[in-house]
Amino acid sequence: MIRAMAELYHPSIYKADRHVESYWAASAGDEVDGWSELSGDERCDVAVIGGGYTGMAAALHLARDYGRDVRILEAGPPGWGASGRNGGFVGPDSTKLGLSELKNAFGDEATRTYYRNGLEAIDLVRQLGEEEGIDFDPQGDGELGVAHTASRMDGMHEWAQVWGDMLGRKVEVWNREQLAERGYAGPEAFGGYFTHAGFALHPLKYGRGLARACIRRGVGFHGHSEVMAWEQDGPRHRLRTRGGTLTADKVIIATNGFTRDKLHPGVSGTLLPALSNIIVTRPMSDEEVARHKWVTECPVWNTRTLVFYYRMIKGNRFLLGARAATRNTEAATEQYRCWLIEQFHAMWPQWSDIEIDYFWRGFVCLSAARVPHIGELPESPGVWHAFGYHGGGVGWATFSGRAVARLIVGNEPADAWLSPVVRSQLRRFPLPWMRLWYLRAAYLWYGMKDRR
Ligand SMILES: Cc1cc2nc3c(=O)[nH]c(=O)nc-3n(C[C@H](O)[C@H](O)[C@H](O)COP(=O)(O)OP(=O)(O)OC[C@H]3O[C@@H](n4cnc5c(N)ncnc54)[C@H](O)[C@@H]3O)c2cc1C
Repeated sequence: MIRAMAELYHPSIYKADRHVESYWAASAGDEVDGWSELSGDERCDVAVIGGGYTGMAAALHLARDYGRDVRILEAGPPGWGASGRNGGFVGPDSTKLGLSELKNAFGDEATRTYYRNGLEAIDLVRQLGEEEGIDFDPQGDGELGVAHTASRMDGMHEWAQVWGDMLGRKVEVWNREQLAERGYAGPEAFGGYFTHAGFALHPLKYGRGLARACIRRGVGFHGHSEVMAWEQDGPRHRLRTRGGTLTADKVIIATNGFTRDKLHPGVSGTLLPALSNIIVTRPMSDEEVARHKWVTECPVWNTRTLVFYYRMIKGNRFLLGARAATRNTEAATEQYRCWLIEQFHAMWPQWSDIEIDYFWRGFVCLSAARVPHIGELPESPGVWHAFGYHGGGVGWATFSGRAVARLIVGNEPADAWLSPVVRSQLRRFPLPWMRLWYLRAAYLWYGMKDRR
């Protein structure tokens, strides 16, 4: 089933022998014990491809709550993908569609259920932390959206009303002075809105905690076990890695932005990995932090379409993340790193003497329909998938992992608890080899819009 196809990115991004050199990898503590590379010929009820939040949440629920025999096949160590290197924002949204676009495409009720699922996702992360004893350094209680130009404050009150009604949570609008008192001050901070939902965490501590929980609950975790070939054996699936084979009745594809087209024809051409990039500063003194009146522990993003996301993490290091890159050669990566540091200095000029200790990147996952997809591949019975979180997967990947576990077990009709937004048909991009050019064109257009 595995075919050779042109890759969209330089292959170095898939090198999974060790974690990227992120601040999270440097501060997450010990590696997880109790996992091994797959060797020999093994079998199980459900094989999960991908050991990030989606795969681990699916495996954990299947093993712990439904007593299934589950194994995870992961190309790197546990949490090697986006799950071990993201910004740590836990929020309710995971589409690239705005509120009105969602309502137009799916209707009011489905949109409402989608956001209810998003709030459940936030609660589920906290709940798993408590149930499984995961200390993931939670910070903040809500999310802040900042107007990066004065014109982005126009209509903010009306919008906040609609957004709050849809979410069923309080949304406050802050003017520039209120933002400076409760959040921070800077040349691109004209006010904003504060949503009483969401928080932030240490992503790799969370990922490793999930891996330990899986192993404790009897899941077989096989790291350094990339699936290189997929064969059909009657109704069963045989997954081949460098060290062995795993035969399973059901397979869950939980590879999100790191999905290769060659993995399975049912997903080929349906996803578009997009680079997301992060810098982290050295620890700042209290005096340095105060230069921009930074007081909030909450995760923050701004109103650019090419969004910047940022937060003060424990120990007064500042984290800034952004997208807009589509090349990952060594030279292009270095160029982007310099650009991101320039943006940091422009947005927080009083911090232009603060050194940057870390830079890293990874893939978020866009889908052709611009919504996440959870379900069974229509022409491949027994092959399930959950992916496409558009950079909003900390909560949503956890939720989707549990959702796919519940769908596989099939005790409850999905209509009762899962929004049709995330159950819509997986679509192929038109001319999939053009995908990166669509992204480049979109970034160009967004960049122009953001100047207004
Ligand atoms: C820099 C960055 C910042 C982000 N910031 C945020 C944020 O602040 N908040 C938020 O909500 N989301 C954020 N995201 C997105 C979020 O991290 C993801 O949506 C989420 O982690 C997805 O989890 P996952 O388990 O589905 O995928 P991943 O964690 O990416 O895991 C997929 C795994 O599949 C494995 N894999 C792929 N192919 C194979 C194969 N053939 N065989 C075996 N294994 C395979 C990979 O090795 C990988 O570990 C960010 C992402 C990045 C990259």
